[in-house]
Amino acid sequence: MARRRLKEHVLSRAENRPGVYRWLSGDGRILYVGKSVRTRSRLLSYFGETGGKVARLVREAAAVAWDYVPNEFAALHREMRLIRAWQPDYNVEHKRGRRVAFVKVTRERAPRVVVATRVEDDGARYYGPFSRVGWLAEATSDLARALGLRDCPGATPVHFGDQVEMFSPGRPPMCLRAETGSCLAPCAGRCTGAEYRGRASAARAFLEGRGRAPLEAVARAMEAAAERLAFEEAARLRDRLARLEKLRNHVSAFPGRRRNMNLVYSVPGFGGEDRLYLIRRGRLHSDLPLPKTVEDRQRAAGVVEAVFRPAAEDRDAGLDAGAAAEALLAAKWFSRRPRERRRAMEPNRWLATCLPAAACSSSSAAAESPLLWRRPPRASSADEASCLRAWR
Ligand code: SF4
Repeated sequence: MARRRLKEHVLSRAENRPGVYRWLSGDGRILYVGKSVRTRSRLLSYFGETGGKVARLVREAAAVAWDYVPNEFAALHREMRLIRAWQPDYNVEHKRGRRVAFVKVTRERAPRVVVATRVEDDGARYYGPFSRVGWLAEATSDLARALGLRDCPGATPVHFGDQVEMFSPGRPPMCLRAETGSCLAPCAGRCTGAEYRGRASAARAFLEGRGRAPLEAVARAMEAAAERLAFEEAARLRDRLARLEKLRNHVSAFPGRRRNMNLVYSVPGFGGEDRLYLIRRGRLHSDLPLPKTVEDRQRAAGVVEAVFRPAAEDRDAGLDAGAAAEALLAAKWFSRRPRERRRAMEPNRWLATCLPAAACSSSSAAAESPLLWRRPPRASSADEASCLRAWR
């Protein structure tokens, strides 16, 4: 009886547009949360199931409710937030706080590449997020070893070979990696500062999809091992090469350094309801109508500046579990959709390319906001073209 009533309710009320729906029990508990770009069709499909979990859900449900959203991206976020908040019995995904991790290139005299589970505003560069922490730790260690970067604690004293010192030249290295040749050993003055920094920037270039130095180094070592008939070592290096390739593929799929996960993302919506999403520190902070006129863009620029202006409380704040889960969601969304990736920009770039020339020179915020330091004095025709593409 309830089933027929629910179906009639969906048939008479639901529309085929993006939405998030909730199946509810008799006492108002949320049993299941789902999303679809065609809400009506999706909901009706539940009534065709005769067995299994879906049929059980429909039998147990006393009501079904839904909200429309402008697009699939909004549906994805709303669905995830509802599941995390209500932990419905029938949902599996998003329920548990998943551990996510990032590759971090530290900002130290002798930078390290390490795995981090939080993004902090500490001047380091973060790449990711990644959902499989165990594999990432191995791949990060491979990267450090391929380039000779250290992996000892940050507090380990660093003495570069070109550093003028009054005492103790020829100090011994502090671990075996110096002897095995897998570390340049800045703890023992065995490399110059420039040599070490060169390797650290090769690591950043690799993680940003601009360089292949670690892959080439491992491939050379593997060939040399095979020529020496050291087949076990060659096999180990082959596995290392495979992990590094996988790491590179992952970071290339979500390209570039997403420092602090700040993005401005424009999305066409159902029935012309186009939106601009402001993703701050990995989390969907807010959204606003996609501006269509110069005045709207100026107003939107004010909002973007306010949302992304560095705040004092950011300094020590890491990316919390909710933000990390959302960052992972965003990473997956963009990595599988190259077209959507082209719609997302870092806030500085969005401001620089999408404000008309007059707005650039007249905005009173330009002198104050650290976000605007790279804004060009006039938008070039190429910028205008890029701006138009971004608004499409
Ligand atoms: S050799 Fe020195 S710098 Fe390299 S990892 Fe070991 S302790 Fe650190």
